[in-house]
Amino acid sequence: MSPLELGEVTVTRVIEIDRSSFPTLSMLPDSTPDAIARHHHWLRPHFWDDRTGDLGSRIGTYVVKTPRHTVLIDTGVGNDKPRDGSPAWHMRRGAYLDDLRAAGVAPEQVDVVLCTHLHIDHVGWNTRSVGDRWVPTFPNARYVFAGEEWEFWRHEKDACIADSVVPVVEAGQAALVDADYAVDDWLRLEPTPGHTPGHISVRLRTSAGEAVFSGDLMHRTVQVAEPQWSSRFCYDPAKARATRRAFIEVHADSGVLILAAHFPTPGFIVRKDGGFRFAPMNGR
Ligand SMILES: [Zn+2]
Repeated sequence: MSPLELGEVTVTRVIEIDRSSFPTLSMLPDSTPDAIARHHHWLRPHFWDDRTGDLGSRIGTYVVKTPRHTVLIDTGVGNDKPRDGSPAWHMRRGAYLDDLRAAGVAPEQVDVVLCTHLHIDHVGWNTRSVGDRWVPTFPNARYVFAGEEWEFWRHEKDACIADSVVPVVEAGQAALVDADYAVDDWLRLEPTPGHTPGHISVRLRTSAGEAVFSGDLMHRTVQVAEPQWSSRFCYDPAKARATRRAFIEVHADSGVLILAAHFPTPGFIVRKDGGFRFAPMNGR
């Protein structure tokens, strides 16, 4: 994605991993090949990946530069982290920090890190390995977590909480906030629960219009047309479904740009033929 200028705000994307470890049929257990194929006519080519023969997917970070702050939204999988059962994520040695620098951001320049939720593919670069410790990757950043999300995960035994979230809290860099917290005049959190208990989206308001970073409210573009399909990783699939439906209804034909964590490209939710579709921004 080339940098987006939205009025006084710039949005770029640093892609850490350019495909999913999970085929769509596995990620969305209620989907079927026939039901997905009915949407191929609008899913191709923008949301399709010919390398995998499946819907496109990405893991990474949105970098938002407001007039006040340099903000990272979600931090991918991370390097050097033991992730048994996920070969593509296990002990990675990726070039994420180089790619972040190429996007114009050195680690010490990051003011705020926002995690839409505390899953393994959204918190990884919160920390990096130094000696035998995990330290915050962004030394001058405030890490903003929804308090409800932290309260849920702090009692779980997930490796990614232990190596990518707890060290940030222990370093005193975490801000545990309400789900409607305002970062500055441009960015504000909104609760979008279901995928996880405290999942949030981030609304961007600029002089040139609005955008929403919707995290894992949706994983694949086909869910815009089939919002009843929750992912295999949703904590509360029924609530995720209700949140997703409401989000799609509200944003359809609104002109609000949707930047989902895993979609291959930003775009817009549009009404078409009695249903909904995702439309790429300028065909990018
Ligand atoms: Zn995710």
